[in-house]
Amino acid sequence: MSNPDTISSPFLPLPDGISILGVEASDTGLVVSITCHLPFALCPGCQQRSERIHSSYRRLVADVPSGGRQVTLALTVRKCICGIPACSHNIFTERMPEFVLSYARLTNRLRQALQDVGFATCAEAGERLASKLGMSVTATTLLRRTRERSVPAPDVVRILGVDDWAWRKGMTYGSILVDLERRCPIEILPDRQAETVEAWLRLHPEIEIVSRDCAGAYAEAARKGAPHAHEVADRFNILKNLREHLRDFLLRKQALLPEIEHVASEAILQKVRERLQKSSVVFPPANQEKPHFRKMSASLRVYEDRATPQTQLTVTQERKQASRARRYERYEAVRELH
Ligand SMILES: [Zn+2]
Repeated sequence: MSNPDTISSPFLPLPDGISILGVEASDTGLVVSITCHLPFALCPGCQQRSERIHSSYRRLVADVPSGGRQVTLALTVRKCICGIPACSHNIFTERMPEFVLSYARLTNRLRQALQDVGFATCAEAGERLASKLGMSVTATTLLRRTRERSVPAPDVVRILGVDDWAWRKGMTYGSILVDLERRCPIEILPDRQAETVEAWLRLHPEIEIVSRDCAGAYAEAARKGAPHAHEVADRFNILKNLREHLRDFLLRKQALLPEIEHVASEAILQKVRERLQKSSVVFPPANQEKPHFRKMSASLRVYEDRATPQTQLTVTQERKQASRARRYERYEAVRELH
């Protein structure tokens, strides 16, 4: 079963027993024909050696790039006959699990490289970077590759972060656990149930601090699974809560806002005048200024119209409308100042 016409190359290291038959260059990359020349193959059923070849076929798998060019391996795969009568695999395909998995369309080392790119960047940036390095991959596939890598179990976790993890956005969610001292994810749990997180926490009594969102499930999990640990709200949720409460507060005080806007706009315009007076730019006289700050804001008018709505809007629709109006008003203010 040996093939004396094969070669090996230090530029494309291959596992023992696999050699290069030939290389073809194209505009997009290299196609390298390789084959296994070991004198036997192991039957996956009975683990016995077989030297009897039945047939062979060609299989294309993507490999790590060479000199920035994409590399495709044209692998000649042999089918062998198992001579053990009791074995269910009469004919089997030789396998090289250390190099490429069965039915995989890429080698193990390319999968590893893509995972490294995915972990070092993000999906979109990883797609762009991988393309420049000679690895063709979409952002979605890059995400899938990173999820394939098993996360090593941590020895000791002192400060733990727990948050939602979208297996499929809007559909199914799990929980991601992060070692905040090492700044790396350490576990992804299949769901976001309190019982699941609690069971994991019970296995790690060394945890001193649990950083979580404000959802009840994680609070319950931390209370039961790590009762000795301090619970803190993560920064994102603190700022989110602050923003929402501040928005609600300002909406309740909307009657005062035009007056505050007037005072604030005067102060801003005064600052602009002072700054421009120091420079050579001629600022228009005060009577030509458009009192854009002094208008009742469109966002407030929306809430003022609540009392006598022409068309009944839901609260969500009103908020969207008000948000849109605020954005437009900010745009107008920036344009005016410019
Ligand atoms: Zn067998």
